[in-house]
Parts: sequence; C-alpha cells; structure tokens
Amino acid sequence: MSGEPSMLEARHVCFSYNRPIVRDVSFSLMPGTITGIIGPNGSGKTTILRLLDGIIAPLSGEVVLRGNTPLSSLKRKEIARHIAMVPQNGGSYFYQTVFQFAIQGRSPHLSLMGFESMRDEEIAREVLEMTQLSHYLDARVSELSGGEKQRLLLARALAQQTEILLLDEFTANLDINYQVELMRLVRRITREKRLATLVVSHEINILGTFCDRVILMSQGVIRHQGSVQEVMTKEHLKQLFGLDFTVRPLPGGRMEVLPTIQ
Ligand code: ADP
Repeated sequence: MSGEPSMLEARHVCFSYNRPIVRDVSFSLMPGTITGIIGPNGSGKTTILRLLDGIIAPLSGEVVLRGNTPLSSLKRKEIARHIAMVPQNGGSYFYQTVFQFAIQGRSPHLSLMGFESMRDEEIAREVLEMTQLSHYLDARVSELSGGEKQRLLLARALAQQTEILLLDEFTANLDINYQVELMRLVRRITREKRLATLVVSHEINILGTFCDRVILMSQGVIRHQGSVQEVMTKEHLKQLFGLDFTVRPLPGGRMEVLPTIQ
C-alpha cells in the first residue's frame, strides 16, 4: 500500500445542513482495498458518501481524486466515470428487465445521442455474468429476490467501470448467507480490479471480516481509523455505541465482535 497514490481522499471535509453534520473528516481510499465505515444512526455516514460522490459539496475542505484532481473541478458525468455508488434502498425499477437495469450503468460513457453500442451491451452482459445474474437477463427486476436485487445494483455500478466503488448499507435486510456471499463477491472484484471500495454498514462482524481498514465515527467526527485490529477494540466500540463488547481476534487480522448484553 505504501507509496501508492490514493484513489480518493477526503481532506478536512466539513458539511452542514442547519447544523454541522460532518466535521473535519480526512481519510484515503487505496486501490485494491475495502474500507468500512461504522457508527450510530445519524452520525453522518451517508452524508460522507454523498460528499465523496460529489452529490453535495463540502462547506470547507475538499475531496480529491487520484491525489491531484479536486472533485469540484469535474462535471457529474465525469465523476460518474470514476466513482460508482450503490445508494441505500437502490431506487425503483419494477418494469425494467435485468439487462435494461444493468446497462443503465453505461450512461456516463454514452455519447450525446445517448445510444448504447455493442460494447456497452457486452459490458452489461459481463457484469451480469460476474454477479451471477446471466440467466435472468430478460426477467423483470421485480421478480428478483432481495439478494439478487443487491447483486443487480452491484452489476449496474460495475458497468460504470469506475475505479472507486461506494456501497451504502449494501447488505442490510439480507440473511447472513447472502451478506457473506455478497461481501465475498465485493472483495473478489475489489482485489481483481484493484478498486478502492468503501462500505458503510451496521454489520460490525461483516466489516471485521471483510475490511482492510475501518473508520469509526460518531456525531460527524472520525473517532478512530486504521486496520481492523487497531480500530475494533472494546474500548473504541464502547465509546461509539455506549455498550460493552467482547472482542475476539481471528486468524488473518480479523475480529469477531459481540455486544455483552446484561
Ligand atoms: P447516517 O448515515 O450515519 O445514519 P446521515 O448522514 O444520513 O447519517 O445523517 C446525518 C445527520 O444529517 C442526521 O441527523 C440527519 O437527520 C441529517 N440530515 C441528513 N440529510 C439531511 C437533509 N437533506 N436535510 C437536513 N438534515 C439532514
């Protein structure tokens, strides 16, 4: 990791609505790694993703792409060629087919006329293959299960062919099998394609298992960031959630975390 430029960097980013929501947030996303953000509801996690994707602009500080390009200097379509985001509750899409949905990911790359080329169709098929949805090409999105819909949202993001992937509560409401399956897929693609992936999640053990780095935040402030072992300590987690935790290190620098409920 050392010496490599970051793919995306938040530098002293602040943001307010009618009160400060994100305060002096700095971190970097590195190629080939998964970074996780965890924190109580309302701590500003989704707001950070929106700042990183350029949907909202920092009040002060900046978001910088590849070490030298401020996001604020880019148009929306240009940003979408570098950064793909899977938002929470990924939108409405009931009457589209799986293929039509996936190929939407190509829109940042289309010419002004907006027509998809054979290459765009090929890419849409490739990402559906990667996410094991090839046999559903002509199915309606509404026919998919929860886990399959999440894979489809990932497929659309991958069709953008960006080097940065932002996932907001990507495994929420899925059973543990699907959570693990999805995160294995995200990890494989992150490694193979050298993506810089950021995952916001409440699933503390999913983060402890799949992330290379973790950011703990509350009230708009990063309290700790670093490797899973450095960051996911019972002291830090108590500070964040006000609960006692049992933390057990696992092989490979992973952590198992359980709240101790009286
Ligand atoms: P998290 O993702 O950690 O749950 P959010 O980033 O969604 O937190 O929200 C952080 C805070 O910002 C919350 O208190 C929320 O009410 C507030 N907030 C989010 N979006 C808006 C908005 N559009 N207008 C005003 N306040 C907002």
